[in-house]
Amino acid sequence: MTSDQKERRRRLLTDARRIVVKVGSGVLTGEKYEDLDENVVSRIVGHVAGLTESGCKVAVVSSGSVSLGTKALGIPRRGLPIPVQQAAAAVGQGRLISLWAKCFEIHGLKVGQVLLTHDDMANRRRFLNSRNTINSLFDFGAIPIINENDTVAVHEIKFGDNDTLSARVTNLMEADLLAILSDVDGLYSADPRLDKEATKIEFVEEVDEGIFAVAGDSSSRTGLGGMASKVRAAKEASRFGASTIILPGARENSLKDAMEGGDIGTFFFPHDDPMNSKKHWIEFTLKPRGALVVDGGARQALLTMGKSLLASGVASVEGDFESGEAVEVKGPDGAVFGKGLVNYHSHEMEKIKGCRSSEIENILGYKFYDEVMHRDDMVLLK
Ligand code: GLU
Repeated sequence: MTSDQKERRRRLLTDARRIVVKVGSGVLTGEKYEDLDENVVSRIVGHVAGLTESGCKVAVVSSGSVSLGTKALGIPRRGLPIPVQQAAAAVGQGRLISLWAKCFEIHGLKVGQVLLTHDDMANRRRFLNSRNTINSLFDFGAIPIINENDTVAVHEIKFGDNDTLSARVTNLMEADLLAILSDVDGLYSADPRLDKEATKIEFVEEVDEGIFAVAGDSSSRTGLGGMASKVRAAKEASRFGASTIILPGARENSLKDAMEGGDIGTFFFPHDDPMNSKKHWIEFTLKPRGALVVDGGARQALLTMGKSLLASGVASVEGDFESGEAVEVKGPDGAVFGKGLVNYHSHEMEKIKGCRSSEIENILGYKFYDEVMHRDDMVLLK
């Protein structure tokens, strides 16, 4: 790391004011792997309380409901049918939140439980409403303790793992730092359990294919995410303009040391051209429901001239979608180069594709918008 990078890293960490602290099951359950390690929890709580004291707004994304629930019910952690996992989460989540509440209480701080599903985040109103709730908790000086709502989330509507959830929360609470407390002490050049030569990577300027290759598909012992999902979370946070640090969660003072500029963990720099919150939400949270295939002229206008997409540029329509849903934008060669919120239903798009905006009202009998996809609702993929 050059001295300039060191200084930038130090400044980004010490200046961070809105922070997501993600704590994995592997950290919370410590060496025992199944029961919560109260010492670890109170240590993390001590740091978070210190940050809160110094004026930071901190939310905790905590895993552990399934691990705790399976322990309480006396059933194995892995290989359970979904409803059994969900029952375990229901049992475990209560235990999890009461431990966080008890530990924060010692510092005079209240906690608020926030359980989210991917569906909540994909609905713009619910997303904004959740943001207001979190801000309101901060106004009361309370610490949001966030987890996936595992008891209702089935596969299609799941975040999948809490690394992904924590990256979504970074946008939700408009954070400038995501701290991932893990059972590893950072990203390594190879799996340190298999390769003695593996060295820790101190910082990542940009998450590219090379970094994903290094992260591999290693998984952790207890949680669902592995290094790849942490790196994906870091990429997502960086596109929002937030830094990410992966830290050894169980190590005494790791969060505090990092925040004070100490040289630990792996640091990911924020992107130098961040997206605004809405565009970030479109790119990372929304699943596309179909696609608009545009002609060469429209592709050029979107990519180089900052234009909105008009019906005249649409050559064909793929999939069934409602107005307001996310669809991909493909060039004449079929390659996806954008994604955005479409203003018309797929049936309407079939009727108006290739037409001038002035003809839309005649064709449909009404016109909602001139643009079929507005510039502000569109992300061009890079
Ligand atoms: N939401 C899950 C739980 O609390 C954890 C998911 C994960 O390990 O990433 O048990």
